[in-house]
Amino acid sequence: MTALLASPALPLLAALLGACVGSFLNVVAWRLPRQESLLRPASHCPRCGTPLAWFENLPVLGWLWLRGRCRHCGAGIAARYPLVELLTAGLWVAAVGAQPGSMGPLPPPLPLLLAGWLLLSWLIPLTLIDLDRLWLPEPLCRSGLLLGLACTALLGWSQSAELGRQLLFHHLVAAGVGLLGFELVSALGERLLGKPALGLGDAKLAAMLGAWLGLTGLGLTVILAVFSGALVGVLGRLSGRLGRQQPFPFGPFLAAGGAAVWLLGRDAWLATLGLLP
Ligand SMILES: [Zn+2]
Repeated sequence: MTALLASPALPLLAALLGACVGSFLNVVAWRLPRQESLLRPASHCPRCGTPLAWFENLPVLGWLWLRGRCRHCGAGIAARYPLVELLTAGLWVAAVGAQPGSMGPLPPPLPLLLAGWLLLSWLIPLTLIDLDRLWLPEPLCRSGLLLGLACTALLGWSQSAELGRQLLFHHLVAAGVGLLGFELVSALGERLLGKPALGLGDAKLAAMLGAWLGLTGLGLTVILAVFSGALVGVLGRLSGRLGRQQPFPFGPFLAAGGAAVWLLGRDAWLATLGLLP
């Protein structure tokens, strides 16, 4: 196991596996909001229904092979598909050796890597669906939250029973603070602005991130999300790509912030932001 983790083949393996998982996450982001089965039927052209051959299903390569068009009816296949596959591959590689800092001082490396892959893979369809529909599906947030608590317990107990109990309690509190904090801000915003300022989905995603990252990690995530969201909002309005009253989703910023905190680590962010005592 240690040999695998030190092997130069691991990043390559992470990239290949990540690209394949990214391909499936595309399917999740398309079918889950449409309440279609995630497994059947096999991938097909959404316009003419022609099923994809196995080699056309290969991540990134299949899209390049088809030059972004269905071979039967010529309908365009969005460049988003290969881009999501590349993004997932990149994030999976980045997770190799990541020290999030929220799972105790010495979490076992391989389970920690698997946990990171799980978290990142949950955040991608949440981001895509929120971009498409301003909606963060509750089943994804809830299952992501439970997985976060399960990984916390597993990684914590593998260091010591005492640490396991502490971490699990701490992350449960962080999930509750995330949920209630965002609901409170949302209610206040609605009272002040007369319209919903944050979706309740954002509260569920914050709860999920609390379960993975603990209170400090969640706080850092929110700081990163607010700053990057404000920056994108201002740039969008200045460039005219975003209308004055046009709502835009906050979930992708939370997800990106959470991924950044996991990958670069809590302590590195605290130092970068000058928050270390
Ligand atoms: Zn077609």
